[in-house]
Amino acid sequence: MKRRDFIVNSLLTLGGTVLLNGCKFGGKETQKNAGSKVLTRKFQGKDMPLLSLGCMRLPTDANGQIDMAHFEKMVEYAMQRGVNYFDTAYMYHKGESETAVGNVLSNYKRESFYLVSKNPLRALTSKADVRKIFEEQLKKCRTDYFDLYMAHNMSRLTIDNYRNYDVYEQLLKFKEEGKIRHVGFSYHDDAEFLEPVVNEHPWEFCMMQLNYLDWYVKDFKKHYEIITKAKTPIITMEPLRGGGLTKLTGSAKAVIADEAPQDTQASFGLRWAASKENVFTVLSGMSSLEQVQENVETFTNYRPFTKKEAEIADKVADILQRQGEINCTGCKYCQDCPRGIDIPMFFLAYNEYKSTGNPDNLLKCYNQTSPFHRPDRCIKCKLCNEHCPQLLDIPPLLEMIDETIKTLKISEVK
Ligand code: SF4
Ligand code: SF4
Repeated sequence: MKRRDFIVNSLLTLGGTVLLNGCKFGGKETQKNAGSKVLTRKFQGKDMPLLSLGCMRLPTDANGQIDMAHFEKMVEYAMQRGVNYFDTAYMYHKGESETAVGNVLSNYKRESFYLVSKNPLRALTSKADVRKIFEEQLKKCRTDYFDLYMAHNMSRLTIDNYRNYDVYEQLLKFKEEGKIRHVGFSYHDDAEFLEPVVNEHPWEFCMMQLNYLDWYVKDFKKHYEIITKAKTPIITMEPLRGGGLTKLTGSAKAVIADEAPQDTQASFGLRWAASKENVFTVLSGMSSLEQVQENVETFTNYRPFTKKEAEIADKVADILQRQGEINCTGCKYCQDCPRGIDIPMFFLAYNEYKSTGNPDNLLKCYNQTSPFHRPDRCIKCKLCNEHCPQLLDIPPLLEMIDETIKTLKISEVK
């Protein structure tokens, strides 16, 4: 089937300003001072950096605390290069991300950056919580207002809280009070449920998962079409699927290396996400200064995605689908397992085994984990499922991993 997703219409150079395809509901994207700052796209009349910095996977120290010195360097570099959009949330880093972001950004003039956060629908227990949490977030972020604020993780699991506690109406009230500039939602459910949600209110934007693998695996092509039909601008999340698309091995790795040699795996995935015409910023959760530098480079000397590259992405997606990996993005929302099972660690190691055929890391994870916290200790309480934005049914997947490990160990003994 013909792809019409990468509408790369024109590349016109006008006196030092590069004009490329823009956000469908915004306008032309521009790159002033080409070569020094990242490209921008219009959103509600504002110039938004096409690359934005997600603060869900910040660098941490040996104790799992956010490494503030490293994070400060990341922000400094990002700001210098035009990446002045920072996305945090109440739940990230167990509540510490907003504080870290607020502390670092207090070194900059408020009007020099866009600050974005989210209402934790799952954590609400009353109408009053919406304002209580919102005021707490403002304080933690050391600000009077959020540029963009959204209902976080809209899905069948959260819609009752959202409706029963008048979340949308309250967010509009905060907007009237000058504490929010733009109101939107982030989405984690299927296409069928999306249609009524996106049409329920005149949302100013939607944050959705968009990458070249989930376009097919999770039918996000349909999601994109529904949101675009509703004329709602999009922020892309998980463009690299939690970093999974930067760790390709085997034939998937070879395809990008051979057929898109100008790209790293990261730049290839990010450029794919930016090729969608209704996307105004590509949000990437970055964990190191090196990642910021690499991604900034991608969006500074930006090369629009070509039709041939889109075909290469389809080829890689096809290989990855056939490998049968688990669709885990490593977000760690499922880490309160009563049996202490490190679910993302086992999923990551299993995926590595499926893509490379090398079981060493999977067996190492198993051997280094206490027998009390291994996959076979799962009691199928499904608490983890309630937290998983990828809607994974986790207990059977752990069972499958357990069986795989036992088979591998038997063959090891033989
Ligand atoms: S279903 Fe299993 S893995 Fe999930 S929270 Fe319960 S015990 Fe942990
Ligand atoms: S299993 Fe789900 S909740 Fe847990 S890390 Fe993976 S995607 Fe996130």
